Amino acid sequence: MRALRCPTCRVLVLQTAEDFPFCSNRCRVIDLGKWASGGYVISTKINDPEMLESLADEQSQDDGDSSSHKQ
Ligand SMILES: [Zn+2]
Repeated sequence: MRALRCPTCRVLVLQTAEDFPFCSNRCRVIDLGKWASGGYVISTKINDPEMLESLADEQSQDDGDSSSHKQ
């Protein structure tokens, strides 16, 4: 099973987590805010190109997703 550290708070998150690779929707929103402001630097252990692609997909699909209203 794959796991990554939450880019926001560094908690270890399993791939099966609802908000993977984030530990929670809150951390996802915080991270998206960093991307939007251009201040984000990849310093975590995300070295797998596949993982980066799925991450990008997930973020692009997140537009208009009702789950973004969940706290
Ligand atoms: Zn987190």
